[in-house]
Amino acid sequence: MGQTLFTNVRIFDGNAKRTYSGEVLLQGNLIQKVAKSPKKIKANGADVIDGAGATLMPGLIEPHAHICYVDGVALPEIGRIPPADHMVLALENARVMLDAGFTGCFSAAGVGESKLRIEIALRDAINSGKFPGPRLLAASPEITSTAGLGDERKQHMYEESVGLVADGADEVRRACRMCVREGVDNLKINISGDEFVRHGHAQQLTYNDAEVAAAAEVAEMTGVNIACHARADQAVRMALKHGINIIYHADYANNKTLDMLEAKKKDVFLAPAVGIVYTAAYEASDWGITTEIAESMNMLSKLENTYRVYHEVRKRGIRALPGGDYGFAFNPIGTNARDLEHFVNLFGYSPSEALIAATKLGGELMGMNLGQVKEGYLADLLLVDGDPTHDVSILQDRDSFLAILKDGNFHKTPDPDVMAARRQIAAPAAAE
Ligand SMILES: [Zn+2]
Repeated sequence: MGQTLFTNVRIFDGNAKRTYSGEVLLQGNLIQKVAKSPKKIKANGADVIDGAGATLMPGLIEPHAHICYVDGVALPEIGRIPPADHMVLALENARVMLDAGFTGCFSAAGVGESKLRIEIALRDAINSGKFPGPRLLAASPEITSTAGLGDERKQHMYEESVGLVADGADEVRRACRMCVREGVDNLKINISGDEFVRHGHAQQLTYNDAEVAAAAEVAEMTGVNIACHARADQAVRMALKHGINIIYHADYANNKTLDMLEAKKKDVFLAPAVGIVYTAAYEASDWGITTEIAESMNMLSKLENTYRVYHEVRKRGIRALPGGDYGFAFNPIGTNARDLEHFVNLFGYSPSEALIAATKLGGELMGMNLGQVKEGYLADLLLVDGDPTHDVSILQDRDSFLAILKDGNFHKTPDPDVMAARRQIAAPAAAE
């Protein structure tokens, strides 16, 4: 495997809050050496890329991906797509995510019992190197109860659900084991409901203690990850009780529950997935969700709760990751980086804190040496025109990515003309 040397770059390493000037040497798929200016790395035959003062940073990681969702308005649409067509759409989504700077995706659910294999096949297709896409940890469909979030069935006609419906501890156990047999990396269970469905609201539990225990037991026995949808306070507590440490939303966590999360902050990951609620509340009238409808769905008061909880989460140093639930018409796949801006604007994160959450903490969630520009780490990197530690919104513009690398391979190669033009206008990165 060859060597690539980035010179004349500002490095955001995923750890320090500020960038610094330096050089980075890649050997194959790994970061072999990082030098802080004025130190230099000998080229020794490596391909040298003069970064023209651009920012080299870890690839973004989406902690709650729905890479097989197809930018529809409502969940039932997902069930209606034939499997063959759906596979093609999933392959396209994978490329779109990588184009958008996301080199890692921790999936928070695939697409329904009959199409369980799509996300697994997608992961394997990406890993084969034949199709572009992020590193993907593939998930089960949402394992949910009858009348829970994801149960879109109808009494009078057949409707394929996006969730995998299982009731009672035995059925939940069997559903989880089936997903493990088919090759998922992540199990996902819905412990509470959601505003987006008529039945099973956000503050209601949709699984009981025995059902959650059964899912947690399968994860424990088989070594797969387990994550949960838990908006209600009691749902968060139930997750903690059963050692489910990847907790999505947690919007209604009260102060006592926040204390419990803080006590387990070395183990716990939260992801609010605020983008979908924000866009549904304020930007989805073209799709029939007017502000009045959003209000009637309780979204505005829920957002207030989310803001309260995540200001507190930030202050307490509990790990919370931006991203989640992109894959709907008003919150489409590939716009996931907007969540970093939401963290800054809505939760009081600094741009650097949001970036660390989207890179280093994402790597911790993935359970890999990922998400940092650090020796020995995997070479998933972005070369960015501009400094995202000053303004995270630049990551929403694909043209700001001068280069995208995954596993040491260029998905987007620096354009020599663009780099030459950049060198004309940008002075070399100043030494610190
Ligand atoms: Zn989700």
